Amino acid sequence: MPAFEEYFDPSHQMVRDSVRRFVEREILPDIDRWEEAESFPRELYLKAGAAGILGIGYPQSLGGTHEGDVFAKIAASEELMRCGSGGLVAGLGSLDIGLPPILKWARPQVRDRVVPQVLSGEKISALAVTEPGGGSDVANLQTRAVREGEFYRVSGSKTFITSGVRADFYTVAVRTGEPGFSGISLLLIEKGTPGFTVGRPLKKMGWWASDTAELFFDDCQVPVGNLIGSENMGFACIMGNFQNERLALALMANMTAQLALEESLKWAREREAFGKPIGKFQVIKHRLAEMATALEVSREFTYRQAAKMSAGKSVIKEISMAKNFATDTADRITHDAVQILGGLGYMRESLVERLYRDNRILSIGGGTREVMNEIISKQMGL
Ligand SMILES: Cc1cc2nc3c(=O)[nH]c(=O)nc-3n(C[C@H](O)[C@H](O)[C@H](O)COP(=O)(O)OP(=O)(O)OC[C@H]3O[C@@H](n4cnc5c(N)ncnc54)[C@H](O)[C@@H]3O)c2cc1C
Repeated sequence: MPAFEEYFDPSHQMVRDSVRRFVEREILPDIDRWEEAESFPRELYLKAGAAGILGIGYPQSLGGTHEGDVFAKIAASEELMRCGSGGLVAGLGSLDIGLPPILKWARPQVRDRVVPQVLSGEKISALAVTEPGGGSDVANLQTRAVREGEFYRVSGSKTFITSGVRADFYTVAVRTGEPGFSGISLLLIEKGTPGFTVGRPLKKMGWWASDTAELFFDDCQVPVGNLIGSENMGFACIMGNFQNERLALALMANMTAQLALEESLKWAREREAFGKPIGKFQVIKHRLAEMATALEVSREFTYRQAAKMSAGKSVIKEISMAKNFATDTADRITHDAVQILGGLGYMRESLVERLYRDNRILSIGGGTREVMNEIISKQMGL
C-alpha cells in the first residue's frame, strides 16, 4: 500500500503496534462474551488509559500524547477496530465526542479537573445532543436550561446516548436562549447531580457491547461554572465537534469493510464447492475484486480529508462525502461478505454477521446520510 507510508510515519507505526498488542491481549480473548453480555468491564477504560490509548491526540499537560496528531489517532482507532466490535470501540471512544468541547471551551478549572480523569480511564465522558423529539434538527432541541443565580435549572431528556448509563461527565446540549440555533449552549452535567437520572441500557440491532441510554433532567441544578464556551454559542461548538466525529465514523466504516474483506478472502480460499475453492469461481473472484477496489477508494478519500484537516483546512463538504461514501461502501461490503460466507455468514459465531449489523448505525449516527447530503448540496450552492 504505497499511500499508507505517505500518511503514516514511524511514530504512527509504533502507535499502531502498541494498540494492536493491547487489542490482542486485553480485548480479543473476551470480545465474543462481552458482545453477548452487551457490555464490557469498566476496568478496560483504566487499562486503555494506562496503556496511553485514551490520551492519544490530547495535550501532554492533561495526560495525553501526540497532541493534535490526526494520523496517530487514526492508527489507534483502526487498530482498535481490529477487535471486531464497533460497540466496544464506540463505548471506549465516547470520550472523543464528549471531551473536545471541554478541552477547547470549558473554564480552565473544569478542563483541568475533567480531562485528566477521563484520559486515565478513571472517569467516562459522553456527548448528549439527541433528544426523543429528534436528532437531525439540532437547532430545534428542547432541553431547557434556565439561569437562576449561580445555577442553571435543566429540564428535558436525551436519548440514544453512547456510554449513557455509565458515564460520569456528560457534555449536554441545552436551550438557554431563543428558538433556533442561536439559543443553544453546552453544559457539563455530572453523574450524581440532583435531578439527573439515566434509563436502562437500550437494546440495539448492533453495537451490542456499547451502552446506549436515555437521560432525564428534572429541574436539575448545574453550576454556572459548568457552562462550556459562552452562552448561546453551543451550536457552533456542536457543529465543529461533528467534523471529527464524521471522520471517526468514516474510518470505522472503512475498517469494518477491511475486516469483512479479510474474512471473505480467507473463506474464499478455504471453502470448497463443486470440487474447487469458491474463490476460483469468477463471480466470487470479481466480487472480491470489486469489494477491494471500493474499499481502497473509500480509504484513500477518507485519508485525504484527514490530511487536509490535519493541515487546518476546512472540509465540511468533503468529510460529509467521506462519511456517506465509506458507510455505504461498508454496508455493501459487509452484505457481500455475509453472502460469500453463505450460511456461516448468518451465524453469530462468524465475525461478518456482527460486522454487517454493526455497520448499519454508521450512516445514522453523527448525522444521517440525508443530513450529510443536505450539507453537501448546501456547500454546492443548492
Ligand atoms: C447506537 C447509537 C448511538 C448513538 N450515540 C449518540 C450519542 O452518543 N450522542 C448523541 O447525541 N446522539 C447519539 N445517537 C443519536 C444519533 O446521532 C441520531 O439517531 C441521529 O442523529 C438521527 O436522529 P434521529 O434518530 O432522531 O432521527 P431523525 O432526526 O428523526 O430522522 C429520521 C429520518 O428522517 C431523515 N431526515 C431528517 N431530517 C431530514 C432532512 N432535512 N432531509 C431529509 N431527510 C431528513 C433522517 O435522515 C432519518 O432518515 C446515537 C444513535 C444510535 C442509534
